[in-house]
Amino acid sequence: MLSETSNELMWGFMTEQKLTVLVVEDEEDILALLHFNLIKAGYNADCAADGEEALRAIADKKPDLILLDLMLPGIDGLEICRRLREDESTSDTPIIMLTARSEEEDVVRGLELGADDYVTKPFSVKVLLARIQSVVRRRSSLQQQPDHEELVCGDLVIHTGRSIVTVGGQPIDLTFTEFKVLEALAGRQGWVFTRYQIVNAVRGEDYAVTDRAVDVQIAGLRKKLGSCSHYVETVRGIGYRFKEDV
Ligand code: CA
Repeated sequence: MLSETSNELMWGFMTEQKLTVLVVEDEEDILALLHFNLIKAGYNADCAADGEEALRAIADKKPDLILLDLMLPGIDGLEICRRLREDESTSDTPIIMLTARSEEEDVVRGLELGADDYVTKPFSVKVLLARIQSVVRRRSSLQQQPDHEELVCGDLVIHTGRSIVTVGGQPIDLTFTEFKVLEALAGRQGWVFTRYQIVNAVRGEDYAVTDRAVDVQIAGLRKKLGSCSHYVETVRGIGYRFKEDV
């Protein structure tokens, strides 16, 4: 079991300075719970209870990561997300959305606006802390190695430069589109992609491909991946994700 203490130790191992997390949430009890647990886990934590306050806190304190409730009084979470991604000084700040189960459409929009991940309420604090670490880890690995030549996940090896994929050492025959879908997903392991984002990754912006077409590509891809098909995970109601190798 991953205790909060081991989270803290792991965190200390990854970085020497404390990261600041801004919690944007209008429900007081959730805000207090998150604040308490973030401090306990070794983070600096700031709070904002509505959209205006959040934007001010972001400008003043430049948090390292933002936990963002979507349903807020005034400026809502999606609008905050959009503004942060448009502003050069915050375009790379990791955002984890806090959402209700009924907000799937908003989650899809938030991911397309550039949020990194989401957690559905009610959530366990342990799960949320793990997500925070995972997002920070993904961000830093992207910065360190922008161009992977070879992605190795168990038996699956993706040679991105040469468009070759092998499973257990055997090359598999993917179509161009299947390869592009796999490359996009595997290039950001653990990241949830909406169908629209997958289409964009494969074809470029504004290419008209239906959700159904993406599902067909994924089905074909999984079949060919055989014993490695489990790496391509369905995220119900949202899209797809490449299983994170941790
Ligand atoms: Ca709310």
